[in-house]
Amino acid sequence: MMMCKGATRLMSLKQDRRLTFQERLSLRFHLSMCGACRQCDRQFSLLHQLGERFEADLGDATDDQGASPPDSDRQG
Ligand SMILES: [Zn+2]
Repeated sequence: MMMCKGATRLMSLKQDRRLTFQERLSLRFHLSMCGACRQCDRQFSLLHQLGERFEADLGDATDDQGASPPDSDRQG
């Protein structure tokens, strides 16, 4: 079964992108059995909501069309 570390990783991931079916399934399965991770999942969602509000406030400040800094490949 997936460890808490893996579950936390998925919680973080799902704020950035949609989880695959399998990822969602294993996360749900873990959450159904692990109260600590359920708490953690709540906090991740809360943080994400706060983050979105913050970005909305910035509004015009960010420019998607601007040149983004070169992102070196991350490994691992
Ligand atoms: Zn857990």
